[in-house]
Amino acid sequence: MATRRRFVQVAAGAGVVSAAGGLPSAAAVRPSTARSLTTDVLVCGAGCAGVAAALAAARGGANVLLVEKAPFAGGIITSVGLPYFDGIANIRDNRIVVRGVALELLSKSGVCKPDAKTVEKHNPTIPNTFEFKLLLDSLLQKEKTHRTLFNSFVCDVERKGDRVEAVRVANKDGLVTIRPKVVVDCTGDADVAAWAGAPFEQSKEVQPLTLHFRIGRVKKNPDLTRNCREALKKAQEAGELPHYYGPGVMFLFADDEVYVHGVRVPANPTDAADLSRAEMQGRRDAHAMFVAWKKGVPGFEQSYFIEAYPWIGVRESRRLVGEYVLTEDDLMKGRRFADAIATGCWYLDLHPNKTTVGGANDFKPEKVQPDPYDIPYRSLLPKKVANLLVAGRCHSATRGAHASTRVTVTAMATGEAAGVAAGLAAAMGKSPSEIPGARVREALAERNAGPFTDG
Ligand SMILES: Cc1cc2nc3c(=O)[nH]c(=O)nc-3n(C[C@H](O)[C@H](O)[C@H](O)COP(=O)(O)OP(=O)(O)OC[C@H]3O[C@@H](n4cnc5c(N)ncnc54)[C@H](O)[C@@H]3O)c2cc1C
Repeated sequence: MATRRRFVQVAAGAGVVSAAGGLPSAAAVRPSTARSLTTDVLVCGAGCAGVAAALAAARGGANVLLVEKAPFAGGIITSVGLPYFDGIANIRDNRIVVRGVALELLSKSGVCKPDAKTVEKHNPTIPNTFEFKLLLDSLLQKEKTHRTLFNSFVCDVERKGDRVEAVRVANKDGLVTIRPKVVVDCTGDADVAAWAGAPFEQSKEVQPLTLHFRIGRVKKNPDLTRNCREALKKAQEAGELPHYYGPGVMFLFADDEVYVHGVRVPANPTDAADLSRAEMQGRRDAHAMFVAWKKGVPGFEQSYFIEAYPWIGVRESRRLVGEYVLTEDDLMKGRRFADAIATGCWYLDLHPNKTTVGGANDFKPEKVQPDPYDIPYRSLLPKKVANLLVAGRCHSATRGAHASTRVTVTAMATGEAAGVAAGLAAAMGKSPSEIPGARVREALAERNAGPFTDG
């Protein structure tokens, strides 16, 4: 059982500036720390999966609390600046295989029609990640039964019997205790599941971390990518850059601005000290790339480093070992499941912890490209903890299968299914494992979501 942390209760009413107008006393500025909240559904993490889970549960009428450590929602899309909606469509014919919240977000970002059946590219990008934050703000605020707490770090779990009794969140109110009926863990790292004692796996070596960044005032030219690659080779030989991949030097947002995928930092993202080291290494490597290009690549003469996104991105960490562990064999053989609640379609995209020049992987993606495949409800259900669901990149899958299910849209699809299931479970006073997967699928179908069924 997880430990309970102690905190001091300060008298209610403390915490306002002194009426006399002078400096407030130390006691007066200390806010009330004893906060206690209840909710039907608690969603931890407002990334791709968490936003979909929260919207789905609230739209089903549940009382929902969404907590997120960042000051905004969107997860990887907004905090690592990744505009890709991979997993939305089958690579072979661009047919949309995930609808529901993912398609809603893509269409509300102006990329396609709300009832689109195909997309122009199988891996579309949204035009602006800041506007995506605004879109999520407005959708979350529209839900009457929904509350959001940003700047709120889930830091502890209290378990009673086989249930999560409370989740503790650290924020500006102090340590807040939240008592939920059902929890959906969308932290990407399975923080809640791990701290609640649910079985999980984390490979000794996980996929490398990447910081994305943007460089402005760059002049496009046909040799740019090749020259950027050459410059990185030289920088590495000179000891200025330990690892990199690609690089992907893309004019995604403007004609004179590049968005760069190329930083590669091996690290353990569930170790606070190692994650801090990786953040610093990521910044150093991003800047080393910029310096190498400005110094030696035509087109970068007038360039400047705009900014790196706030966090280094984590591709892989803990994976739940749940009621069903989805395998790469399931994906590649297209195994069907009666309790399918989502469809995945991305290739087994495993980044190695070494430099790969030209591309991100050192294998041919087409060799590990499955047809659209089923994701079963049981892969969201942990063992040992009754009132918990785990969605997004930390759901129950082998390392190989996770390399495909981790992408943005597939995470949204599992998040939406978890949100629907959590809402049903809370309303019926049952645990998620008592709700049949077929019932969850039915509820998803009613909102034009769930697994792809158009043949
Ligand atoms: C560098 C990089 C490049 C990628 N490239 C692509 C790509 O091109 N296409 C693609 O489709 N996918 C890509 N992916 C994968 C994909 O973006 C993610 O796996 C996907 O976002 C998973 O969604 P998620 O909701 O599970 O996790 P996330 O989107 O990461 O969301 C998790 C959320 O939980 C919050 N959180 C975590 N811990 C806590 C805590 N303890 N308390 C409170 N909040 C917490 C985080 O702040 C975050 O908002 C990439 C990933 C990385 C890292």
